[in-house]
Amino acid sequence: MPAGDMLRNALLLQIDAGADEAIGEAPIDRFALKPPEARTSPTGPTAVRPSPTPGAPAARAPAPALPVTPARPPAAALVTADTALGAARASAEAAPTLADLRAAVEAFSGCALKETATHTVFADGAESAPAMFIGEAPGADEDRVGRPFVGVSGQLLDRMLAAIGLSRSLNAYITNILFWRPPGNREPSSEEIALCLPFVMRHIELKRPKVLVCLGGPSAKTLLGRAEGITRLRGKWHDFRTPGMYERGEPPIAAMATFHPAYLLRTPGAKREAWRDLLAIKARLAEAAAPG
Ligand code: URA
Repeated sequence: MPAGDMLRNALLLQIDAGADEAIGEAPIDRFALKPPEARTSPTGPTAVRPSPTPGAPAARAPAPALPVTPARPPAAALVTADTALGAARASAEAAPTLADLRAAVEAFSGCALKETATHTVFADGAESAPAMFIGEAPGADEDRVGRPFVGVSGQLLDRMLAAIGLSRSLNAYITNILFWRPPGNREPSSEEIALCLPFVMRHIELKRPKVLVCLGGPSAKTLLGRAEGITRLRGKWHDFRTPGMYERGEPPIAAMATFHPAYLLRTPGAKREAWRDLLAIKARLAEAAAPG
């Protein structure tokens, strides 16, 4: 193979893995660096992350590794994380409308992802839509444009919506459980998810859809509060309530989990099950729209 083709393939491999940004002016030859001192950790070698599971949007870098020592984050870090979470909750709860919530998310500076993102990606679609779709996190395209699901998986999502009579302009509303792109599309940390969650919960309360659709495992696990993977969670109806809805004794929202469009692009064989989920969503929406 000509050297030019090999280099191009190596570059495409990196881009596929999510390494699509330069983080320094000059390359670092890490093979030439002195190996780090062996760490004496009581916890043994760093755990190996399992291979990608259905519903994971794309192959990507893992979340930042937790420090080996000290075993617990310093008290100051805990206080900061706690303060940021408190601020997120207070700010989300104080938002009386979707427009106020969007402004609150844009003004929130407690999540470090915002520092590396170009745009805050809040939502897209019809505010009065009966169906609300929630994915995982903005990717490079969404970060550039400032709207969710505008890249290739967004194009597939639009085709999936159209197949059951939905569109962003009329009757579908789309958002994510994270409002900022994790750098290099790495997996978001649980702290990043937790910091966005009060806004996501308020988003659902204010939007109050007839049907909530979790796209992919991370969205389903976070919103349904379940440990199972997407293969087990999908295709069934779940009762969804935010903590505020519980407190106020409000009825649940019908929630369905299905495969993430990025997973369907990589695994076309799963489209049959996704189609079944879409038909169930269509039927539920028709039921909700029926008089009486
Ligand atoms: N994948 C997601 O989960 N959300 C987006 O907005 C785009 C891709």
